[in-house]
Amino acid sequence: MTENKYGINLGTVRCPECDEPLPALRVPDSLHQLMWGGWTCPKCGCRMDKWGKPVDIKRPHKPFGV
Ligand SMILES: [Zn+2]
Repeated sequence: MTENKYGINLGTVRCPECDEPLPALRVPDSLHQLMWGGWTCPKCGCRMDKWGKPVDIKRPHKPFGV
C-alpha cells in the first residue's frame, strides 16, 4: 500500500544490491546516516547514501592505529 496522502514524493530509493525498496523517511541508525542521510538495507544490510548509491564504509577493526 503506497498511499501518498501527504503529497510527498521523494522518489523511491532501492537497494543497489537487492533492489529492496526503502522508505523515504526513516530514523537514521548511525551517525553517518544522521549526517549524510542514507539507508541501511533491512534486507541485505548494505549501506547506501540518500541517492541510493552504495556506501563503502571502511570500518577499521582497531579503533586507533596501534
Ligand atoms: Zn539490500
